[in-house]
Amino acid sequence: MDIAELLIREVELPLRSPFQTHQGTVQNRRLIIVEAKDREGRVGYGEVTAFETPFYTSETIKTAWHVMEEVIIPTLDWKLVTHPRDFHEACAFIQGHPMAKAGVEGALWDLYAKQHSQSLRELVGGERHRAKAGAVLSLSASLEDDIKRLKQDGYERFKLKVKKGEEWELIRKVQSIDSELDLMIDANGQYTEEDFDHLVSLDKAGLLMMEQPFRAGDFYLHRRLQELISTPVCLDESIMSFEDAVQAVQLNSCRMINVKISRVGGLTEALNIHDYCREHGIQVWCGGMVESGISKAHNLALASLEAFNIPGDLSSSTRYFERDFVTPGFVVSGGAIDVPEEPGIGVGIDTDYLQEVTLQTHAVKV
Ligand SMILES: [Mg+2]
Repeated sequence: MDIAELLIREVELPLRSPFQTHQGTVQNRRLIIVEAKDREGRVGYGEVTAFETPFYTSETIKTAWHVMEEVIIPTLDWKLVTHPRDFHEACAFIQGHPMAKAGVEGALWDLYAKQHSQSLRELVGGERHRAKAGAVLSLSASLEDDIKRLKQDGYERFKLKVKKGEEWELIRKVQSIDSELDLMIDANGQYTEEDFDHLVSLDKAGLLMMEQPFRAGDFYLHRRLQELISTPVCLDESIMSFEDAVQAVQLNSCRMINVKISRVGGLTEALNIHDYCREHGIQVWCGGMVESGISKAHNLALASLEAFNIPGDLSSSTRYFERDFVTPGFVVSGGAIDVPEEPGIGVGIDTDYLQEVTLQTHAVKV
């Protein structure tokens, strides 16, 4: 791929409203942007979406920086990387750290598509020009108005983040306003075996899916639950690789998978999971993080594949941030976002703003 330089950049983007984590409130979102430059001056962009603390996955911004700076960038023979898929193979000797790998691989996919004057959507074989977006509901006095407005805006999938013990109250409240909504819940792995009967009782709610009821890595309990309920179990945090997806499918631990490029270690692995799920009748949809437009652009290319027929966690650029460094920003309209058609990830980069929010950089000529 004629790579001349790799640059990693830690940035801090101000959030529109504070973000709650287990360890307190976050005012800014730190991310790492990866830039892969070739000898013609083209630049491919990727993004590491790990958080500052390991509450969602075990990786953090600091572990990802370390692995990229001290392992991935100096160790790989970059001349042998002729396609982004080669990078995935070349990293097989590094255990774990999928988000660090995904950030570098993302920059390579973007660069490769630009070198071949193709959009990333075309490169991965996506057929959709619009990717459907799902809405997240939060309980407030204006819930009824919110639902009406979201439906008018074209949203077709509605997600509730639930807390143990409050699920029925939340679900009933939403369903009393509109019993026809395609409603799903996301539990982020908070249940244990003791909650089994309670989870089985939620089957009566007629949900679109129940996302990640048990902790990541527990294929056994998810399988037992899926055997007893007709609501599809969807796995999110459990799926960190293609092999995890194979296990989940072969053990009947789920009927749906939330595919996040960063969580599974890059677009190559996400595409492999997509192909496998399609062959085995498992539904997939595209998950999201609190991420910049660079990551969103990669997600949209993935979500353009035909099998991604459930609306994903795709949102407008202004959902989390006052200002993004992609131009133009992404906008959800009619419940969907246009998939970029320009070469690569298909968006311009506001390099002045990118520089303004940069905390540190590390660049290596290769
Ligand atoms: Mg989730």
